[in-house]
Amino acid sequence: MTWSFVLRTIIVASICSVLGVLLNLAVLGFLSGLSICGVAMLLNAIQFSRFRDWSTKPRSNPPINLGTFYTPAHTVWSALRSSRTRSQNLIQAAQRFKNIANGLPDACVVLNSNLYIQAVNENSLGLLGLTNKDVGKPISSLIRHPNALGLFRGESEDKSLVDIPSPMSDEIHLELRLIQISSDYHLLIARDTSQENRILSMRQDFIANVSHELRSPLTVLIGYIESAGEGEIDENTLREIVSRLNSPAQRMKSLVDDLLTLTRLEASPEPEQDALSIIDGGRLVRTVLEEAKSFAAQNHQVQLDVDEGLKIKGVTNELYSAFLNLLTNAFRYSPEGGEIDLRWKSRGTLARFEVQDTGVGIAPVHLPRLTERFYRVDPTSSRISGGTGLGLAIVKHVLRRHQSSLQITSQLGCGSRFYCEFPVYTQSEKSLHEASI
Ligand code: ADP
Repeated sequence: MTWSFVLRTIIVASICSVLGVLLNLAVLGFLSGLSICGVAMLLNAIQFSRFRDWSTKPRSNPPINLGTFYTPAHTVWSALRSSRTRSQNLIQAAQRFKNIANGLPDACVVLNSNLYIQAVNENSLGLLGLTNKDVGKPISSLIRHPNALGLFRGESEDKSLVDIPSPMSDEIHLELRLIQISSDYHLLIARDTSQENRILSMRQDFIANVSHELRSPLTVLIGYIESAGEGEIDENTLREIVSRLNSPAQRMKSLVDDLLTLTRLEASPEPEQDALSIIDGGRLVRTVLEEAKSFAAQNHQVQLDVDEGLKIKGVTNELYSAFLNLLTNAFRYSPEGGEIDLRWKSRGTLARFEVQDTGVGIAPVHLPRLTERFYRVDPTSSRISGGTGLGLAIVKHVLRRHQSSLQITSQLGCGSRFYCEFPVYTQSEKSLHEASI
């Protein structure tokens, strides 16, 4: 019951009493004043009881029939509502940040000023082995690598960055970065650098391989040139020297040509459908055979088996180079008089190019690595026969650009079979293409 209500009731009751006295009806006036007071008090009690009911669930909208209690109830309700909206916004923002932190590929660990863990994201488990259970523990008790400890003590050479193997696996390499966010907080970020390290070491191996491959013929060249420059030499000797220069020079040229081809294949995007030609595979295979025979030193027995009219879509010069590489390898790694089967055959909706030889064969252990650059089973024999060690790497890239892949089966001492398949180009495909134009 509010003071203004009491006051108003007393005033009304007094006015009734005064009117009663003035009208010579003092008792009636007093009684009516009293009953007005009673009714008002009853009404107020009912409103108060409703207010009390509402106050047990103040998040609901206050009912309009609270009378004098409505205004304070509404004020409380509005304040509660806006504070609830604020805290919901805060919860949503926190959840968003948590999702972002969990979506990061790196491990992120929030540390206090004493480097005790305050929070971790999901990737902290895979990279650092840390979970929410570690919250409250000092980071230095969980990541014990000397480089990391140096970083936590501020003793590392680069104050904020060190490399460590992941505590979860020696295969994973991490770059740890400690960032001071404020006077109270630090952020420890662990980034997986294994892939970068692998690429870096592949690049270093590649440069070392190229240098090594170029160095041998260059040494031979320099040797001949130096001996040609020493003293008097007759014309015959000079001619002999010049002819011997040819082989190392050719080797260097083949190597540079293959390197350029490989770089071009790797750097250029996959050919667009419009850029593909319709290739008569049989004709291409015959051209490849002529070319291979023209520089094959030994006498091999080649059986050609071609399904005539079998066509595919592709980039002619790329497929030419891939098929030629596979066929020259068959010549190169088969003995004098060895048999070679060269096939272009239909297999349902696919066309298969296949080269089978009866040569030296390949041990199973080498098969998965054959298409790596400069990988050779026998480096000496490959070099002697003019191989650059890049042929199958080129084949792999060409086939990948044609949504195909190289399949190899081989038996040591018995020979090898290399094949790849492509979707057959059909007439209906042609009319479809024409219709779309
Ligand atoms: P290379 O120029 O040395 O021939 P490639 O990339 O073409 O390089 O081949 C990689 C290696 O695979 C070769 O050095 C050779 O050891 C092996 N190889 C390729 N083709 C054959 C084959 N038909 N028979 C046996 N070994 C082969």
